[in-house]
This record gives sequence, structure tokens and C-alpha cells, in this order.
Amino acid sequence: DSVFAHIDRAPEDPILGVTVAYNKDPSPIKLNLGVGAYRTEEGKPLVLNVVRQAEQQLVNDRSRVKEYLPIVGLADFNKLSAKLILGADSPAVQENRVTTVQCLSGTGSLRVGGEFLARHYHQLTIYIPLPTWGNHPKVFTLAGLSVKTYRYYDPATRGLNFQGLLEDLGSAPSGAIVLLHACAHNPTGVDPTIQQWEQIRQLMRSKSLLPFFDSAYQGFASGSLDADAQPVRMFVADGGECLVAQSYAKNMGLYGERVGALSIVCKTADVASRVESQLKLVIRPMYSNPPIHGASIVATILKDRDMYNEWTIELKEMADRIISMRQKLFDALRARGTPGDWSHIIKQIGMFTFTGLNSEQVAFMTREYHIYMTSDGRISMAGLSSKTVPHLADAIHAAVT
Ligand code: PLP
Repeated sequence: DSVFAHIDRAPEDPILGVTVAYNKDPSPIKLNLGVGAYRTEEGKPLVLNVVRQAEQQLVNDRSRVKEYLPIVGLADFNKLSAKLILGADSPAVQENRVTTVQCLSGTGSLRVGGEFLARHYHQLTIYIPLPTWGNHPKVFTLAGLSVKTYRYYDPATRGLNFQGLLEDLGSAPSGAIVLLHACAHNPTGVDPTIQQWEQIRQLMRSKSLLPFFDSAYQGFASGSLDADAQPVRMFVADGGECLVAQSYAKNMGLYGERVGALSIVCKTADVASRVESQLKLVIRPMYSNPPIHGASIVATILKDRDMYNEWTIELKEMADRIISMRQKLFDALRARGTPGDWSHIIKQIGMFTFTGLNSEQVAFMTREYHIYMTSDGRISMAGLSSKTVPHLADAIHAAVT
């Protein structure tokens, strides 16, 4: 008998498992709105032109070798990533108060940040929004932190429960870590306004709560990289400390290349360099050092003015297409006279719409219409196209009537 005979079958991942089920469905009309990956109007994955250009340049450069990167990754990439999120003229960057390490996309950056805090920070409780991306509680629990939630989404208004958020952060213990989605909150598509961010900042600083930003969608919310970084920059401008996990999966379409960065903004350059020395001790036994290709693509684009500009144009096109799908879906439901207020579809921000459909309605749509989505009713707007909107609207209409 196998020495592993006692092992139970684990359930599929609640998000990635949607794609597994989708792949098994032979129906020609099937539609995958589960995973948050951008698709073109033709329903195809997209490699940005500027990424192809950068890759070509890298391939043509015969001086490039495949040596190991340092534990902290590619130096150019790290510096440019810090500037991208904190601002090109950020005083924190200029004063060398920021340590940035290249990590395995957003997830790896969150994990390295979590492990570092578990080892070296005095408060082991991290507050995450309710609801949040399904991987957050697992990442932080396994990193050794204790996970609690703060109220975020109000199902009644399909908007922000701002009062609940302030109450919960207000009663968190001093020094607790707070995970904040930098923009385009996943799964709800609901972000605080800039005025609300300012109130959150004041409250958090007054209680010495430590901000840990998850920036997985910079540029995807508004189409502007700077506008989407505004909340993070407000917290850095006050001189206080924070962590930021960045992902290039969505905004450069580099999903499978696993490119991201963890930045820790400190009070002084000396603290930042000691923090970095400890981050290396976290990373070395975990995966030794990060892969070179994706980070080289990003660095090539970020340091070349023309390529950077082209990237911002392509990014805006992706963001605009998603926004146009919101309007199309909203119009399609209105045209069908589907009962209910669907205005949240056009109000919500970023890749997802939190439809308000319950798990039975979702199961019905999968069974009868071959539409795949997470059971919390989240749909990826980036997976929709003009051609598939009517099918989705028919399914929603049938599910709620
Ligand atoms: N954080 C949030 C909120 C996300 O939605 C995602 C991806 O879906 C990630 C982090 C991490 O993604 P990745 O590890 O692919 O960069």
C-alpha cells in the first residue's frame, strides 16, 4: 500500500478551480468569468506590444547572460518599481528610506512581507477587509500572522461600509497591521474616495496601525498609474512607515512571469538597510533568488521613456475596454427589464463586478448557461466582450426572475 494512502483529496482552489471546471465543459458557448485575467474583444489573452518589443530587445542583446540574480532581485527593477508606486520624485525614495525586493508577483510579495513581519514586528495581528481576495487569509496565516477582519463592504448599498470600517480599525489594538487594497478592491470593486482615504490615514496614524498595501491593479482602476497610486502616496507623504506589495501580472499582462516587488518604507536609510538585510534571510531559504526574465522586461520598459509611454497607452486601452463592458452589461440588463438595481455594475471599479448574485444563482448560471464565476457572485469584467454580454445578461435575467 502507498505510504500516502491516507491522504484526503483537497478541494480545488475557489478561484483557480473555476478554470479547472470551465476547461472540462465541452459546451461551445461556455464563458469563463472566474479568474482575473484580461481578455481581448475576441476573448483571447493579450501580450502587450510594448512587452513583445522589450522581449525582442532582450533576446537581441548578446551580452545578456542567465546568471543568478542577487537575493533581492534586479537592482534597476527594484528602484523603478519603487518610483512607479511612490512617485518619480518621492522624497522617501530619494532619501533611500525605501527598501525594495523583487518577489514572485503580488502573492510572493505579500508572503515575504508577511514572513518578515511575523519575525520582526511587535504586533502579529493583521486586519484584512471583509470580504477580500481569497488568498489573503491563507498567505498571512501561513506566514505566521494572526488574521482578523474589518468591515468593508455593505451588501445593502453594494458600496463601502465606511462607518463599520472606521469602527473596526478604531477598536484594533495599537500597532496592528492593516491590509489595504491600493485600488480596485478585489472582489468588490468598491474603493474609498480620496476624502475617505484621508480619514483612514488619520485614524491609522493616530493609532500607530501599520499599513500593508496590496497593489495588484495599479493603472487598471482609472487607466492612470498615478491616480491609482494616490492612496499609497498619501500614506508615504506623512513620513510614516508602510509596506507595499506590487504585481505586474495585470497591468503589464505578465501573469505567468511572476513579477512583483515588496517595498518597505522606513523612517531612515539606516533602518531601511537593516530591514533589507533581514528580508534576504527570509528569501534565501524560501526560493534563493527570483527569476530574471520578467523583471528584465519590466525594467526595460520602465527605464525607456518611449516604451513607458507606449505602456501607459496600452494599459489605458485595457482599462477603458473593461469600463465599456460595465456600461454594456448594465444597458443589456436594463433592456431586458431585469428586476433590481444594477447601477453598481457601472459604479464599481477595476477588473471585477461584485454582482450580488448568491451561490445558488451562480450555480444555476453555470448549469444552464455554462457561465463560470466564483460562488460569491464576482465576475471578471475583463473576461467579457461585446459578443458575450448578451449571453451573460440572459443568464443573470433568468437567475433572478
Ligand atoms: N492581490 C490581489 C488583491 C489580487 O487580486 C491578486 C491577483 O488576483 C494578487 C494580489 C496577486 O496576484 P499575482 O500573484 O498573480 O501577482
